[in-house]
Amino acid sequence: MAPPADVDDLRRRVHGPVYAAGDEGLAAEVFAWNVAVQHTPTVAVGATCAADVAAAVSWAVAHRLPVAVQATGHGPVRNAAGSVLVSTRRMQGVIVDPVRRTARVEAGVKWEKILAAAAEHGLTGLCGSSSDVGVVGHTLGGGMGSLGRKYGFAADAVVAFDIVTADGALRSVSADSEPELFWGVRGGKGNFGVVTSIEFALVPVRSVIGGGLFFVAEDAAAVLHAFREWAPTMPEEVGTSIAVLRLPPMEQLPEPLRGQTVVHLRYAYCGDDPAEGERLVAPMKDAGRVVLGYLGPLRTTEMDAVHMDPQDPMPGWEKGMLLAELTEETVEAFLAAAGPQVQVPLVMAEIRLLGGALAREPHVPDAVAGRDAAWSVLVLGPMVPELTEVLPQVGRGVLAALEPWAAPGCMVNFLGDVSGPDEVAAAYPPAVRERLLGLKAAVDPGGVFSFGHALSPRG
Ligand SMILES: Cc1cc2nc3c(=O)[nH]c(=O)nc-3n(C[C@H](O)[C@H](O)[C@H](O)COP(=O)(O)OP(=O)(O)OC[C@H]3O[C@@H](n4cnc5c(N)ncnc54)[C@H](O)[C@@H]3O)c2cc1C
Repeated sequence: MAPPADVDDLRRRVHGPVYAAGDEGLAAEVFAWNVAVQHTPTVAVGATCAADVAAAVSWAVAHRLPVAVQATGHGPVRNAAGSVLVSTRRMQGVIVDPVRRTARVEAGVKWEKILAAAAEHGLTGLCGSSSDVGVVGHTLGGGMGSLGRKYGFAADAVVAFDIVTADGALRSVSADSEPELFWGVRGGKGNFGVVTSIEFALVPVRSVIGGGLFFVAEDAAAVLHAFREWAPTMPEEVGTSIAVLRLPPMEQLPEPLRGQTVVHLRYAYCGDDPAEGERLVAPMKDAGRVVLGYLGPLRTTEMDAVHMDPQDPMPGWEKGMLLAELTEETVEAFLAAAGPQVQVPLVMAEIRLLGGALAREPHVPDAVAGRDAAWSVLVLGPMVPELTEVLPQVGRGVLAALEPWAAPGCMVNFLGDVSGPDEVAAAYPPAVRERLLGLKAAVDPGGVFSFGHALSPRG
């Protein structure tokens, strides 16, 4: 779509750069970490502050253009074609208050920055498996990480945020000032506006006993069945998951893992007694033959070593589901569909333990999906041209094989590829869904925010 003629008017209103379709620099501005999605917006705004975001949203609404937002591009659902894309990566403010044990971050901040700042005070935040991910996007979708069973979802820790809504207004939202918006944005992802900054509670964790073990593919069944029995016995201080990884022959990987299929146990114990953390994981060390691994002390700034997610941009397709239980039969079905012996183009098929604080409503309830499940499953593959048709079929097929043990809904951050607003709505429990749709209709009746995991304003 050709940009409206008065894009220069927008340029005068914002401090950051504005790129119209066809401008040199637009592709670099909207580059997504997930390179399978290449955004082609009508206009991209490199926002530097909340006022820039408000100006961009007002301008977009005046020109009847939808608004998309991107911090890092770790979680795009589809090309934000024809949108005004607000790029927040210049918004890098971070304030840690060690007395109140809170942090306030602007919309472009990645977890690695706040983890480092908080660690200076013996505190940390509820980051997911990779600290390269944006704080705001992760948190608005719930946000589940290795400390989650002890401290809950990242969204549960939010105490306030600033948001630009579809009317172009910048609102300061807390449980007292705007309770319904405070409820819905925490879990409702980007449906209600562009969050310009977010304040959340930090937790008193300096280090964990953690890391991962890579087992040989031939021992997959033994390791997965051992995990199924062992993981539910863990206290809330333990976050753990297991994944079948089909690793590419990349030089960045340690030699024994290059091009190999392995089973990866991930483990993090955040309790007070390191010896207990070592003792709890000991049974899993004997579950199979270990190719490589480290389990030991990790500072909170080193916790990417638990999952060892890829750092470099990659083309990804992913999809998740929830499980109510993980029985012997579930593990057999998982192995039959995605185990090392089958030929599937998946880089990862993982099962994470939920429960603990993740299953409890926070002090001020929020709209986070996935609270009632016992396990989360995520499949991920490379969305390269030769796999664009087959990969989604295979991925959805693996999840379909686990359907007999499914729990309703899905964590929004793990929804991945969705067919449309109905599939997003189905991620939430019915009462939450109805309330979110009511809020969407009230706050964004025209569907200005219709990218990402968007709900339909009409329900
Ligand atoms: C390697 C990797 C590991 C991950 N691990 C985990 C994990 O352990 N746990 C977990 O819960 N999730 C995890 N995720 C999912 C991740 O949390 C989501 O994809 C998240 O949305 C990424 O946010 P982002 O800002 O980095 O990405 P972006 O692609 O920039 O944003 C994704 C979406 O977030 C929303 N969003 C971003 N910024 C704003 C804003 N300022 N205002 C309103 N909405 C906004 C929008 O809907 C946007 O489309 C992982 C993803 C990757 C790629």
